[in-house]
Amino acid sequence: MKTRPPKKRTSSTKHPSAVPAKRAATSRKRSPKTGKYPDIRRDLERQREAILNETGEVLTHRGDIEAFPDVSDQASAEVDQNFSMRIRDRERKLLKKIDEALERMDAATYGVCERCDGDIPYKRLKARPVTTLCIECKTLQEQEEQARG
Ligand SMILES: [Zn+2]
Repeated sequence: MKTRPPKKRTSSTKHPSAVPAKRAATSRKRSPKTGKYPDIRRDLERQREAILNETGEVLTHRGDIEAFPDVSDQASAEVDQNFSMRIRDRERKLLKKIDEALERMDAATYGVCERCDGDIPYKRLKARPVTTLCIECKTLQEQEEQARG
């Protein structure tokens, strides 16, 4: 049996620009990450940025306040600090929810109810993009929480 040496394709590989790559590139160009809800993703990303900017501001203000040497100022600074910490805590939680929502978008599980696996209506997602429950399940959950006290 004769073994043929592999053909050398010098002429075609030398000029990759000559290959009509257009067709292959355009059909798969759209990123799957955009998914079904590109505008909600945009909302989430905008909200995320806003929170990050705000919390950044809170941090710099705190630095200013702490520099006051006066005792009474110190006391009010502590009140401010508690206040801003509470805000930051809430924002941190929201930020986490936003991140999770974006992750669900990447995983293509966004817009699916965690509890009943049903589709969450677009209107609800638009109004509350970080939600993981459809209205029915959310209502049930709230009723359960109330029952627990
Ligand atoms: Zn549900």
